[in-house]
Amino acid sequence: MVSRIHLGHVFHLAGAPLVTDAANALVSIPDGALVIGDDGRIAFCGERAGIPSQYQSAPTSDHRPGYLLPGFVDTHVHFPQTYAGDSYGGGQLLEWLTLCIYPSESRFADENVAAQAAIEFCNRRIAAGTTAAMVFGSAFPHAQDALFTETQRRGLRIVSGRGIQTTGPAAAARLFTSEEDAIRLTREEIDKWHAADTGDVKSARLHVAIVPRFSLAVTTQTLKGLGELYDSVRDRGVYFHTHLNENNRPGTGEVDATKERYQVNSYLDTYDGKFLPGSAVGGSSLLGRRSIMAHSVHCQDVELERMAETGTSISHCPISQQFLGSGTMPWLRTVASGVNISAGTDFGGGDEWLIPQVIGAAFKVHISEPGAAGVSMHPAEMLFIGTLGGARALDMEDRFGNFDVGKEADFVVIDPSRTPALQAALTYGARSDDAVMARDQTLFALLMGIRETSIAETYVQGRRLQ
Ligand SMILES: [Zn+2]
Repeated sequence: MVSRIHLGHVFHLAGAPLVTDAANALVSIPDGALVIGDDGRIAFCGERAGIPSQYQSAPTSDHRPGYLLPGFVDTHVHFPQTYAGDSYGGGQLLEWLTLCIYPSESRFADENVAAQAAIEFCNRRIAAGTTAAMVFGSAFPHAQDALFTETQRRGLRIVSGRGIQTTGPAAAARLFTSEEDAIRLTREEIDKWHAADTGDVKSARLHVAIVPRFSLAVTTQTLKGLGELYDSVRDRGVYFHTHLNENNRPGTGEVDATKERYQVNSYLDTYDGKFLPGSAVGGSSLLGRRSIMAHSVHCQDVELERMAETGTSISHCPISQQFLGSGTMPWLRTVASGVNISAGTDFGGGDEWLIPQVIGAAFKVHISEPGAAGVSMHPAEMLFIGTLGGARALDMEDRFGNFDVGKEADFVVIDPSRTPALQAALTYGARSDDAVMARDQTLFALLMGIRETSIAETYVQGRRLQ
Protein backbone atom coordinates (compact mmCIF):
# COMPACT_ATOMS: atom_id res chain seq x y z
CA MET A 1 0.00 0.00 0.00
CA VAL A 2 1.29 3.45 -0.89
CA SER A 3 0.50 6.60 1.03
CA ARG A 4 -2.84 8.20 0.20
CA ILE A 5 -4.40 11.59 0.89
CA HIS A 6 -8.10 11.83 1.81
CA LEU A 7 -9.71 15.27 1.59
CA GLY A 8 -12.85 16.34 3.45
CA HIS A 9 -14.19 18.07 6.53
CA VAL A 10 -12.44 16.32 9.43
CA PHE A 11 -14.08 15.91 12.83
CA HIS A 12 -12.42 13.98 15.67
CA LEU A 13 -11.45 14.16 19.34
CA ALA A 14 -7.72 14.64 19.72
CA GLY A 15 -5.69 13.18 22.54
CA ALA A 16 -7.19 11.07 25.31
CA PRO A 17 -9.93 13.19 26.93
CA LEU A 18 -12.52 12.02 29.43
CA VAL A 19 -16.08 12.37 28.17
CA THR A 20 -16.40 15.44 30.40
CA ASP A 21 -13.60 17.11 28.44
CA ALA A 22 -14.69 16.00 24.97
CA ALA A 23 -15.74 19.50 23.89
CA ASN A 24 -12.24 20.82 24.54
CA ALA A 25 -10.75 17.97 22.52
CA LEU A 26 -13.02 18.46 19.52
CA VAL A 27 -11.15 19.17 16.30
CA SER A 28 -12.95 20.49 13.23
CA ILE A 29 -11.03 21.08 10.01
CA PRO A 30 -13.43 22.14 7.24
CA ASP A 31 -10.78 22.05 4.50
CA GLY A 32 -9.03 19.06 6.03
CA ALA A 33 -6.77 16.26 4.96
CA LEU A 34 -5.88 12.87 6.31
CA VAL A 35 -2.69 11.32 5.03
CA ILE A 36 -2.52 7.57 5.47
CA GLY A 37 0.99 6.14 5.46
CA ASP A 38 1.98 2.99 3.64
CA ASP A 39 1.73 1.23 7.02
CA GLY A 40 -2.00 2.01 7.28
CA ARG A 41 -1.45 4.58 10.02
CA ILE A 42 -2.31 8.27 10.27
CA ALA A 43 0.72 10.14 8.96
CA PHE A 44 -0.89 13.57 9.00
CA CYS A 45 -4.20 15.12 10.05
CA GLY A 46 -4.66 18.81 9.44
CA GLU A 47 -5.38 21.57 6.95
CA ARG A 48 -5.21 20.59 3.30
CA ALA A 49 -2.87 23.52 2.78
CA GLY A 50 -0.52 22.08 5.39
CA ILE A 51 0.10 18.64 3.95
CA PRO A 52 3.83 17.97 4.42
CA SER A 53 5.81 18.16 1.20
CA GLN A 54 6.85 14.51 1.25
CA TYR A 55 3.20 13.47 0.86
CA GLN A 56 1.99 16.09 -1.59
CA SER A 57 2.45 13.85 -4.60
CA ALA A 58 0.58 10.93 -3.03
CA PRO A 59 -2.60 9.76 -4.77
CA THR A 60 -5.60 11.69 -3.51
CA SER A 61 -9.19 10.72 -2.75
CA ASP A 62 -11.19 13.93 -2.82
CA HIS A 63 -14.33 13.42 -0.73
CA ARG A 64 -15.23 17.11 -0.53
CA PRO A 65 -17.78 18.37 0.43
CA GLY A 66 -18.00 15.16 2.45
CA TYR A 67 -16.87 14.49 6.00
CA LEU A 68 -14.17 12.27 7.51
CA LEU A 69 -14.96 10.80 10.94
CA PRO A 70 -13.24 8.10 13.00
CA GLY A 71 -14.74 4.65 12.42
CA PHE A 72 -17.69 3.95 14.67
CA VAL A 73 -17.23 1.53 17.58
CA ASP A 74 -20.19 -0.60 18.65
CA THR A 75 -19.44 -2.08 22.07
CA HIS A 76 -22.54 -4.27 22.30
CA VAL A 77 -24.15 -6.09 19.38
CA HIS A 78 -25.53 -9.64 19.09
CA PHE A 79 -24.37 -11.76 16.15
CA PRO A 80 -27.01 -14.52 16.65
CA GLN A 81 -29.71 -11.83 16.58
CA THR A 82 -28.74 -10.73 13.07
CA TYR A 83 -32.16 -11.80 11.83
CA ALA A 84 -34.02 -10.86 15.04
CA GLY A 85 -34.34 -7.09 14.66
CA ASP A 86 -37.80 -5.72 15.37
CA SER A 87 -39.00 -8.98 16.89
CA TYR A 88 -42.46 -8.67 18.36
CA GLY A 89 -43.37 -10.94 21.23
CA GLY A 90 -45.22 -8.79 23.70
CA GLY A 91 -43.65 -7.92 27.03
CA GLN A 92 -40.25 -6.62 28.09
CA LEU A 93 -36.79 -8.19 28.35
CA LEU A 94 -37.44 -11.61 29.84
CA GLU A 95 -40.61 -12.24 27.81
CA TRP A 96 -38.91 -11.05 24.61
CA LEU A 97 -35.95 -13.35 25.23
CA THR A 98 -38.22 -16.35 25.68
CA LEU A 99 -40.65 -15.66 22.85
CA CYS A 100 -38.35 -14.15 20.22
CA ILE A 101 -34.67 -14.41 20.94
CA TYR A 102 -34.02 -17.91 22.19
CA PRO A 103 -35.85 -19.38 19.15
CA SER A 104 -33.93 -17.05 16.80
CA GLU A 105 -30.57 -17.88 18.33
CA SER A 106 -31.37 -21.61 18.29
CA ARG A 107 -31.62 -21.47 14.49
CA PHE A 108 -27.84 -20.93 14.39
CA ALA A 109 -27.49 -24.62 15.17
CA ASP A 110 -27.94 -24.94 11.40
CA GLU A 111 -24.51 -24.32 9.85
CA ASN A 112 -26.02 -22.78 6.72
CA VAL A 113 -28.05 -20.27 8.72
CA ALA A 114 -24.97 -19.34 10.75
CA ALA A 115 -22.74 -18.97 7.69
CA GLN A 116 -25.27 -16.79 5.90
CA ALA A 117 -25.76 -14.67 9.01
CA ALA A 118 -22.00 -14.09 9.30
CA ILE A 119 -22.02 -12.56 5.83
CA GLU A 120 -25.07 -10.43 6.56
CA PHE A 121 -23.62 -9.32 9.91
CA CYS A 122 -20.41 -8.10 8.24
CA ASN A 123 -22.43 -6.44 5.45
CA ARG A 124 -24.42 -4.47 8.00
CA ARG A 125 -21.30 -3.45 9.93
CA ILE A 126 -19.50 -2.16 6.86
CA ALA A 127 -22.61 -0.34 5.64
CA ALA A 128 -22.97 1.26 9.08
CA GLY A 129 -19.30 2.26 9.29
CA THR A 130 -18.78 0.13 12.41
CA THR A 131 -15.08 -0.57 12.14
CA ALA A 132 -14.66 -2.14 15.60
CA ALA A 133 -17.14 -4.03 17.76
CA MET A 134 -17.64 -6.10 20.86
CA VAL A 135 -19.84 -8.85 19.50
CA PHE A 136 -21.99 -11.04 21.69
CA GLY A 137 -21.54 -14.42 20.05
CA SER A 138 -23.57 -17.50 19.25
CA ALA A 139 -23.69 -20.50 21.54
CA PHE A 140 -22.56 -22.68 18.64
CA PRO A 141 -18.82 -22.97 17.92
CA HIS A 142 -19.41 -23.48 14.18
CA ALA A 143 -21.28 -20.16 14.10
CA GLN A 144 -18.40 -18.41 15.87
CA ASP A 145 -15.97 -19.97 13.38
CA ALA A 146 -18.10 -18.56 10.54
CA LEU A 147 -18.19 -15.13 12.20
CA PHE A 148 -14.43 -14.89 12.79
CA THR A 149 -13.65 -16.26 9.33
CA GLU A 150 -15.90 -13.81 7.53
CA THR A 151 -14.82 -10.89 9.73
CA GLN A 152 -11.18 -11.61 8.93
CA ARG A 153 -11.93 -11.93 5.22
CA ARG A 154 -13.72 -8.57 5.18
CA GLY A 155 -11.01 -6.76 7.20
CA LEU A 156 -13.17 -5.66 10.13
CA ARG A 157 -12.09 -5.61 13.76
CA ILE A 158 -13.90 -7.82 16.24
CA VAL A 159 -13.89 -8.91 19.84
CA SER A 160 -16.31 -11.78 20.34
CA GLY A 161 -17.00 -14.90 22.31
CA ARG A 162 -19.60 -17.63 22.27
CA GLY A 163 -22.68 -16.87 24.38
CA ILE A 164 -22.39 -19.00 27.51
CA GLN A 165 -25.55 -20.40 29.03
CA THR A 166 -25.81 -23.26 31.51
CA THR A 167 -29.34 -22.69 32.81
CA GLY A 168 -32.56 -20.88 31.93
CA PRO A 169 -36.07 -21.44 30.61
CA ALA A 170 -36.95 -24.38 28.39
CA ALA A 171 -37.14 -22.09 25.34
CA ALA A 172 -33.35 -21.64 25.59
CA ALA A 173 -32.54 -25.33 26.02
CA ARG A 174 -30.71 -25.67 22.69
CA LEU A 175 -28.33 -22.90 23.80
CA PHE A 176 -27.30 -24.64 27.03
CA THR A 177 -24.16 -26.65 27.58
CA SER A 178 -22.99 -28.65 30.56
CA GLU A 179 -20.83 -26.85 33.12
CA GLU A 180 -17.73 -28.61 31.81
CA ASP A 181 -18.46 -27.77 28.17
CA ALA A 182 -19.13 -24.12 29.03
CA ILE A 183 -15.53 -23.76 30.17
CA ARG A 184 -13.98 -26.12 27.61
CA LEU A 185 -15.66 -24.52 24.58
CA THR A 186 -14.72 -21.02 25.75
CA ARG A 187 -11.11 -22.05 26.26
CA GLU A 188 -11.04 -23.68 22.82
CA GLU A 189 -12.41 -20.52 21.21
CA ILE A 190 -9.70 -18.44 22.88
CA ASP A 191 -6.99 -20.81 21.71
CA LYS A 192 -8.39 -20.94 18.18
CA TRP A 193 -9.27 -17.30 17.48
CA HIS A 194 -7.64 -14.89 19.94
CA ALA A 195 -5.15 -12.90 17.83
CA ALA A 196 -5.37 -15.67 15.24
CA ASP A 197 -4.90 -13.24 12.35
CA THR A 198 -1.48 -11.87 13.31
CA GLY A 199 -0.39 -14.04 16.21
CA ASP A 200 0.15 -10.90 18.30
CA VAL A 201 -2.58 -9.41 20.46
CA LYS A 202 -1.15 -5.91 19.90
CA SER A 203 -1.54 -6.01 16.13
CA ALA A 204 -4.51 -8.38 15.82
CA ARG A 205 -7.92 -7.40 14.51
CA LEU A 206 -9.49 -10.58 15.94
CA HIS A 207 -9.86 -10.96 19.69
CA VAL A 208 -11.88 -13.26 21.95
CA ALA A 209 -14.03 -12.48 24.97
CA ILE A 210 -15.57 -14.59 27.72
CA VAL A 211 -19.30 -13.93 27.34
CA PRO A 212 -21.91 -15.35 29.72
CA ARG A 213 -25.32 -14.10 28.57
CA PHE A 214 -26.09 -12.74 32.03
CA SER A 215 -26.10 -14.00 35.58
CA LEU A 216 -29.56 -15.56 35.24
CA ALA A 217 -28.27 -17.74 32.38
CA VAL A 218 -25.45 -19.29 34.40
CA THR A 219 -24.83 -20.78 37.85
CA THR A 220 -22.43 -20.10 40.69
CA GLN A 221 -20.43 -23.05 39.38
CA THR A 222 -20.20 -21.45 35.93
CA LEU A 223 -19.18 -18.10 37.38
CA LYS A 224 -16.50 -19.77 39.47
CA GLY A 225 -15.20 -21.67 36.44
CA LEU A 226 -15.18 -18.55 34.27
CA GLY A 227 -13.28 -16.66 36.96
CA GLU A 228 -10.60 -19.34 36.99
CA LEU A 229 -10.49 -19.37 33.21
CA TYR A 230 -10.21 -15.57 33.06
CA ASP A 231 -7.38 -15.58 35.60
CA SER A 232 -5.50 -17.97 33.32
CA VAL A 233 -5.91 -15.83 30.17
CA ARG A 234 -5.92 -12.21 31.39
CA ASP A 235 -2.29 -11.77 30.49
CA ARG A 236 -3.10 -12.74 26.90
CA GLY A 237 -5.42 -9.74 26.53
CA VAL A 238 -8.68 -11.70 26.55
CA TYR A 239 -11.89 -9.74 27.15
CA PHE A 240 -15.00 -10.14 29.29
CA HIS A 241 -18.46 -9.05 28.19
CA THR A 242 -22.00 -9.44 29.53
CA HIS A 243 -25.22 -7.62 30.49
CA LEU A 244 -25.75 -5.67 33.72
CA ASN A 245 -28.75 -3.95 35.31
CA GLU A 246 -30.82 -3.75 32.16
CA ASN A 247 -34.46 -4.19 33.18
CA ASN A 248 -35.86 -3.51 36.64
CA ARG A 249 -39.58 -3.90 36.17
CA PRO A 250 -40.80 -4.60 39.72
CA GLY A 251 -41.33 -8.26 40.43
CA THR A 252 -40.49 -9.68 37.01
CA GLY A 253 -37.47 -7.68 35.87
CA GLU A 254 -33.97 -9.03 35.41
CA VAL A 255 -32.41 -6.95 38.20
CA ASP A 256 -34.73 -8.21 40.95
CA ALA A 257 -34.64 -11.76 39.60
CA THR A 258 -30.83 -11.78 39.72
CA LYS A 259 -30.59 -10.39 43.23
CA GLU A 260 -33.21 -12.84 44.42
CA ARG A 261 -31.57 -15.85 42.80
CA TYR A 262 -28.07 -15.07 44.06
CA GLN A 263 -29.07 -13.29 47.27
CA VAL A 264 -26.45 -10.61 46.62
CA ASN A 265 -26.31 -6.94 47.51
CA SER A 266 -25.78 -5.83 43.93
CA TYR A 267 -26.05 -7.35 40.47
CA LEU A 268 -22.45 -6.36 39.75
CA ASP A 269 -21.25 -8.52 42.65
CA THR A 270 -22.16 -11.64 40.65
CA TYR A 271 -19.49 -10.67 38.07
CA ASP A 272 -17.06 -9.47 40.72
CA GLY A 273 -16.44 -12.87 42.31
CA LYS A 274 -18.97 -12.13 45.07
CA PHE A 275 -21.74 -14.36 43.78
CA LEU A 276 -22.52 -16.28 47.00
CA PRO A 277 -25.37 -15.29 49.39
CA GLY A 278 -24.69 -12.03 51.17
CA SER A 279 -22.22 -11.17 48.38
CA ALA A 280 -19.66 -13.52 49.89
CA VAL A 281 -16.63 -14.20 47.73
CA GLY A 282 -16.97 -17.41 45.73
CA GLY A 283 -14.39 -16.92 43.00
CA SER A 284 -12.35 -14.47 40.96
CA SER A 285 -13.57 -11.16 39.59
CA LEU A 286 -14.35 -10.81 35.91
CA LEU A 287 -14.00 -7.00 35.94
CA GLY A 288 -11.13 -5.00 34.48
CA ARG A 289 -10.02 -2.70 31.68
CA ARG A 290 -11.03 -5.24 29.04
CA SER A 291 -14.48 -5.82 30.55
CA ILE A 292 -17.62 -4.19 29.13
CA MET A 293 -21.01 -4.20 30.85
CA ALA A 294 -23.92 -3.66 28.49
CA HIS A 295 -26.72 -1.35 29.61
CA SER A 296 -25.95 -0.57 33.28
CA VAL A 297 -29.22 1.36 33.39
CA HIS A 298 -30.17 0.71 37.02
CA CYS A 299 -26.84 0.79 38.86
CA GLN A 300 -26.30 1.60 42.49
CA ASP A 301 -23.59 4.18 43.15
CA VAL A 302 -21.42 1.45 44.61
CA GLU A 303 -21.63 -0.47 41.33
CA LEU A 304 -20.65 2.55 39.25
CA GLU A 305 -17.75 3.25 41.60
CA ARG A 306 -16.55 -0.35 41.37
CA MET A 307 -16.65 -0.29 37.58
CA ALA A 308 -14.72 2.99 37.50
CA GLU A 309 -12.17 1.66 40.00
CA THR A 310 -11.52 -1.51 37.98
CA GLY A 311 -11.42 0.23 34.58
CA THR A 312 -14.55 -1.62 33.49
CA SER A 313 -16.56 0.20 30.80
CA ILE A 314 -20.27 0.60 30.15
CA SER A 315 -21.87 0.03 26.77
CA HIS A 316 -24.73 2.50 26.67
CA CYS A 317 -27.59 1.22 24.49
CA PRO A 318 -30.43 3.77 24.53
CA ILE A 319 -32.21 2.49 21.42
CA SER A 320 -32.45 -0.98 22.95
CA GLN A 321 -33.58 0.50 26.24
CA GLN A 322 -36.41 2.25 24.43
CA PHE A 323 -37.30 -0.84 22.40
CA LEU A 324 -37.51 -3.08 25.47
CA GLY A 325 -38.86 -0.51 27.93
CA SER A 326 -35.75 -0.80 30.08
CA GLY A 327 -35.60 2.83 31.20
CA THR A 328 -32.86 5.44 30.88
CA MET A 329 -29.30 5.24 32.14
CA PRO A 330 -28.89 8.38 34.27
CA TRP A 331 -26.34 10.37 32.27
CA LEU A 332 -25.04 12.87 34.81
CA ARG A 333 -24.84 10.37 37.68
CA THR A 334 -23.11 7.76 35.52
CA VAL A 335 -20.60 10.26 34.12
CA ALA A 336 -19.91 11.63 37.60
CA SER A 337 -18.75 8.19 38.77
CA GLY A 338 -15.83 8.35 36.33
CA VAL A 339 -16.72 5.09 34.58
CA ASN A 340 -15.92 5.03 30.87
CA ILE A 341 -19.03 5.13 28.67
CA SER A 342 -19.22 3.82 25.11
CA ALA A 343 -22.12 3.23 22.72
CA GLY A 344 -23.81 -0.01 21.71
CA THR A 345 -26.57 -0.81 19.27
CA ASP A 346 -27.50 -4.01 21.13
CA PHE A 347 -28.95 -5.24 17.83
CA GLY A 348 -31.47 -7.01 17.94
CA GLY A 349 -32.54 -5.63 21.36
CA GLY A 350 -32.01 -2.36 19.56
CA ASP A 351 -33.43 -2.10 16.07
CA GLU A 352 -30.72 0.05 14.46
CA TRP A 353 -27.28 -0.98 13.21
CA LEU A 354 -26.02 2.61 13.12
CA ILE A 355 -24.00 4.04 15.97
CA PRO A 356 -24.97 7.59 14.88
CA GLN A 357 -28.59 6.61 15.51
CA VAL A 358 -27.60 5.32 18.96
CA ILE A 359 -25.87 8.55 19.95
CA GLY A 360 -28.81 10.51 18.55
CA ALA A 361 -31.11 8.46 20.79
CA ALA A 362 -28.76 9.16 23.70
CA PHE A 363 -29.24 12.87 23.14
CA LYS A 364 -33.03 12.49 23.10
CA VAL A 365 -33.34 10.31 26.20
CA HIS A 366 -30.95 12.37 28.32
CA ILE A 367 -32.56 15.69 27.52
CA SER A 368 -35.82 14.02 28.60
CA GLU A 369 -34.58 12.86 32.00
CA PRO A 370 -36.63 14.33 34.88
CA GLY A 371 -35.79 17.62 36.56
CA ALA A 372 -32.18 18.59 36.98
CA ALA A 373 -31.06 15.26 35.51
CA GLY A 374 -32.26 16.36 32.08
CA VAL A 375 -29.23 17.46 30.09
CA SER A 376 -28.39 18.50 26.54
CA MET A 377 -25.39 16.36 25.57
CA HIS A 378 -22.66 18.25 23.77
CA PRO A 379 -22.15 16.91 20.24
CA ALA A 380 -18.52 16.20 21.17
CA GLU A 381 -19.77 13.95 23.99
CA MET A 382 -21.97 12.18 21.46
CA LEU A 383 -18.98 11.69 19.14
CA PHE A 384 -16.95 10.50 22.13
CA ILE A 385 -19.21 7.60 23.10
CA GLY A 386 -19.45 6.50 19.46
CA THR A 387 -15.73 6.59 18.68
CA LEU A 388 -12.96 7.26 21.23
CA GLY A 389 -14.93 5.99 24.25
CA GLY A 390 -15.56 2.77 22.36
CA ALA A 391 -11.88 2.36 21.55
CA ARG A 392 -11.13 2.92 25.25
CA ALA A 393 -13.75 0.35 26.27
CA LEU A 394 -11.99 -2.14 23.99
CA ASP A 395 -8.65 -1.19 25.56
CA MET A 396 -7.38 -0.29 22.09
CA GLU A 397 -7.40 3.49 22.39
CA ASP A 398 -3.70 3.47 21.55
CA ARG A 399 -4.53 1.93 18.16
CA PHE A 400 -7.66 3.73 16.90
CA GLY A 401 -10.60 5.95 17.91
CA ASN A 402 -9.31 9.29 16.62
CA PHE A 403 -6.90 10.76 14.07
CA ASP A 404 -3.85 11.31 16.26
CA VAL A 405 -0.70 10.75 14.20
CA GLY A 406 0.53 7.17 14.43
CA LYS A 407 -2.84 5.58 15.06
CA GLU A 408 -4.23 2.94 12.72
CA ALA A 409 -6.41 4.67 10.13
CA ASP A 410 -9.97 3.59 10.86
CA PHE A 411 -12.38 6.11 9.37
CA VAL A 412 -15.62 6.63 7.52
CA VAL A 413 -16.44 8.93 4.63
CA ILE A 414 -19.78 10.67 4.99
CA ASP A 415 -21.28 11.88 1.72
CA PRO A 416 -24.34 14.00 2.54
CA SER A 417 -25.42 14.08 -1.09
CA ARG A 418 -26.48 10.45 -0.69
CA THR A 419 -29.03 11.50 1.96
CA PRO A 420 -31.02 14.54 0.78
CA ALA A 421 -32.42 15.44 4.21
CA LEU A 422 -28.92 15.49 5.69
CA GLN A 423 -27.53 17.50 2.82
CA ALA A 424 -30.32 20.04 3.14
CA ALA A 425 -29.75 20.44 6.89
CA LEU A 426 -26.00 20.90 6.41
CA THR A 427 -26.38 23.27 3.45
CA TYR A 428 -29.23 25.50 4.53
CA GLY A 429 -29.43 25.16 8.32
CA ALA A 430 -29.01 28.42 10.26
CA ARG A 431 -25.72 28.63 12.14
CA SER A 432 -24.61 30.83 15.01
CA ASP A 433 -22.38 33.86 14.44
CA ASP A 434 -20.18 32.37 17.12
CA ALA A 435 -17.65 30.13 15.36
CA VAL A 436 -17.46 27.52 18.11
CA MET A 437 -21.23 27.23 18.38
CA ALA A 438 -21.51 27.07 14.59
CA ARG A 439 -18.98 24.23 14.58
CA ASP A 440 -20.94 22.37 17.26
CA GLN A 441 -24.20 22.92 15.38
CA THR A 442 -22.73 21.45 12.21
CA LEU A 443 -21.39 18.39 14.03
CA PHE A 444 -24.74 17.90 15.75
CA ALA A 445 -26.69 18.12 12.47
CA LEU A 446 -24.23 15.66 10.94
CA LEU A 447 -24.42 13.09 13.74
CA MET A 448 -28.20 13.29 14.02
CA GLY A 449 -28.74 13.14 10.28
CA ILE A 450 -26.43 10.32 9.22
CA ARG A 451 -28.27 7.33 7.79
CA GLU A 452 -26.85 4.18 6.24
CA THR A 453 -27.07 5.81 2.82
CA SER A 454 -24.79 8.64 4.02
CA ILE A 455 -21.86 6.34 4.76
CA ALA A 456 -20.06 6.20 1.44
CA GLU A 457 -16.84 4.41 2.42
CA THR A 458 -15.52 2.52 5.45
CA TYR A 459 -11.80 2.06 6.16
CA VAL A 460 -9.83 -0.06 8.65
CA GLN A 461 -6.06 0.39 8.83
CA GLY A 462 -6.27 2.57 5.73
CA ARG A 463 -7.89 -0.16 3.63
CA ARG A 464 -11.34 0.37 2.20
CA LEU A 465 -13.72 -2.42 3.19
CA GLN A 466 -16.20 -3.87 0.72
ZN1 LIG B 1 -27.69 -7.28 24.64
